[in-house]
Amino acid sequence: MREKRQLVAGNWKMNGLLEDGRALARDLGRLARENPPPCELLVCPPATLLFVVGEILAGSGVALGAQDCHAAPKGAHTGDVSAPMLADLGCRYVILGHSERRSYHGESNEAVREKMVAAWEAGLAAILCVGEREEERASRRAFAVVKSQIQGSIAQSAAAPRLVLAYEPVWAIGTGLVPSMADISEMHAAIRPLLPSATRILYGGSVNPKNAAEILALSEVDGALVGGASLNAADFMAIAGACR
Ligand code: PEP
Repeated sequence: MREKRQLVAGNWKMNGLLEDGRALARDLGRLARENPPPCELLVCPPATLLFVVGEILAGSGVALGAQDCHAAPKGAHTGDVSAPMLADLGCRYVILGHSERRSYHGESNEAVREKMVAAWEAGLAAILCVGEREEERASRRAFAVVKSQIQGSIAQSAAAPRLVLAYEPVWAIGTGLVPSMADISEMHAAIRPLLPSATRILYGGSVNPKNAAEILALSEVDGALVGGASLNAADFMAIAGACR
């Protein structure tokens, strides 16, 4: 059985100084307490804000997650952050294999797989991002690309409670473009047999308060991964409020 509650996750990316993070977390915590949404809520701030945001959101029902982790638990990896460090800060989730990391940091499926194992060993759930580029969709290779990312990135012993998949067409991220509802449903339905049963499949790419209800109403969609719109508490909560 799939978890009934949808998951709405905010990816703050590399945004926010201390005061911005505090203000956004305070607003989110207040709105979540005043009007608890019908879904599970998660925010993934940059590493520098995890501690303060976690403190502010404690007890609010909004979970904490990170945007990446290293594959090793500790050691000589200057500038990196390990999965046990994230768990120690109260993180429950970590985003892995985001297209920005795959393209700007050259992350391979194999590297993502190693991080996934590290995340699980630290007790974190992994949100694995996959998605095709514009030219891959245009040449009808979208499913083949997504399938090979899934098969290459998911570690053995994957199980639903510790794995969430985010289908994020690269051409839809931060562009205002969104696939048709039929295309989202078709891709999610095609992906599902490749995953452990009951794995939640989120849609990500230009989700905003205007399009959220239509996307989140799709029976194949188990939630959303939200970038830009998660930087505004009211917008993020409006998206969460649109869950079925
Ligand atoms: C993302 O980067 O994961 C994302 C979905 O971004 P946006 O919502 O801004 O398109």
